[in-house]
Amino acid sequence: MHREPVTMANSMRGTSARWAKIRDAQKSRRLPCNLCGQPIDYSLKWPHPQSFSADHIRPYEHNPDLRLDPGNVQSSHLRCNQSKGDNQHYSAGMGSASQVF
Ligand SMILES: [Zn+2]
Repeated sequence: MHREPVTMANSMRGTSARWAKIRDAQKSRRLPCNLCGQPIDYSLKWPHPQSFSADHIRPYEHNPDLRLDPGNVQSSHLRCNQSKGDNQHYSAGMGSASQVF
């Protein structure tokens, strides 16, 4: 069980439980990373860069419904997810762990 960064949890308290279900369901499928194609070691835990991260296929910032749409979720490495670009919800508070590309 890992947590969203605090900045997200504050505003997403109501949806976090539903998102956790969707994320866990996706995780249980044990799929390879959809961004780089490599297998994911599901024994690794967040915030390990190679750990599982549920990635939103389409950004949900303008479409809140997409955040809780199981069809909008894909498996990815945390590192791959963060390097996609739309990582504003990861960048805050993770200065030492993130890199500037
Ligand atoms: Zn990957």
